[in-house]
Amino acid sequence: MKDELKEHPKYKGLHSQSSQRVLEELAEAFNSWYSSDDNRDNPPGYRKRNYYDDEGRRVHEEHPRSTVTWKQNGIRHDTKHNRVRLSKGANHKEHPKAWEYILVEYETRPGVTVENLQQVRAVYDQSKERWELHLVCKDEIETPTAPGNETAGIDLGISNFAAVAYSTDDADLYPGNRLKQDGYYFPKEIANCDDSGGERATRLHTKWSGRRTHFFHSLAKHIVQRCIERGVGRINIGELEGVREDENGGSKNWGKHGNLDLHGWAFDRFTSILEYKAKVEGIEVVEVDERDTSKTCCVCGREDESQRVERGLYVCDECDAAFNADVNGAENIRLNINGESNSESPASLGGDRSTGWLAQPGVYLYDLSSGFQPQEQVVDCKP
Ligand SMILES: [Zn+2]
Repeated sequence: MKDELKEHPKYKGLHSQSSQRVLEELAEAFNSWYSSDDNRDNPPGYRKRNYYDDEGRRVHEEHPRSTVTWKQNGIRHDTKHNRVRLSKGANHKEHPKAWEYILVEYETRPGVTVENLQQVRAVYDQSKERWELHLVCKDEIETPTAPGNETAGIDLGISNFAAVAYSTDDADLYPGNRLKQDGYYFPKEIANCDDSGGERATRLHTKWSGRRTHFFHSLAKHIVQRCIERGVGRINIGELEGVREDENGGSKNWGKHGNLDLHGWAFDRFTSILEYKAKVEGIEVVEVDERDTSKTCCVCGREDESQRVERGLYVCDECDAAFNADVNGAENIRLNINGESNSESPASLGGDRSTGWLAQPGVYLYDLSSGFQPQEQVVDCKP
């Protein structure tokens, strides 16, 4: 099919490298369709309307418009006049060899320079219903020095989206209230639309996904800021169960249908956002084995299959104390209890450590206008 289409007038209308990329994309789409045994899948190019799974993520895209990519051969960058010249395909010109180009002028925000241009992409924005040009530049930054040598631990979960434990004997909880409210609100609104693939439903989906993305970015930013204040150089985060790296070490393999489990999907998305936000501050994010982290007491190290978790509290018979269950998990992840060379272990720290912080973490509620705000907390903790 690639051979056949290469000669097609539509493809000859693009710069050779660009048409090559479009054809590769199409070939990838066909390959994934052939290897799918999900009978809801349509062959590429025959999709009639947007299709969303139960969690509101788009599986099929209505009339997909391929991204057109210009690589360096097809680009001439005039840095003096803020212009980019893009090559045209032969049949868009008067004569195949004519000197005709698409000339693009751009403006940047103050302080932003377009340099080391690597690629130009014409991308169709579904929500704005227009084409945009993306200029891809290469910018090398020096790895900054870490804020300190401390380690923080993050446990991602369902009742609390994130629990973070710091070596400074404090912990934060992020309940993810906004995510939950949206998770009730949007599916209902979308179900009330007359046409599930229609304009209003599409707009709601776009809005919902934008709010999720905003939540992840704000949360990652908040946590990184707290880490800087506490001299953290390393963040341990629980490795997601049942999620494997693919052979190329690249993106996660979620099974062939891409029918992602909501939480796994959200955690993965959040982790990658956190990773790059931490990296520019010199903080390393390390995925650690989270096996047994929820059933081990982070103070005495006692592991108990039948440990009691009551109303979000982890109760340890040995210590005769109750901790917030998610903070207990985060602290075990911070200590990396399954790691080979953990210098700190629950037992070695246990003796004279205060444990009050384990029961009374700071709680941050998320608000669209003001971001994460500390919540005055009523502590419900039995001795
Ligand atoms: Zn204990």
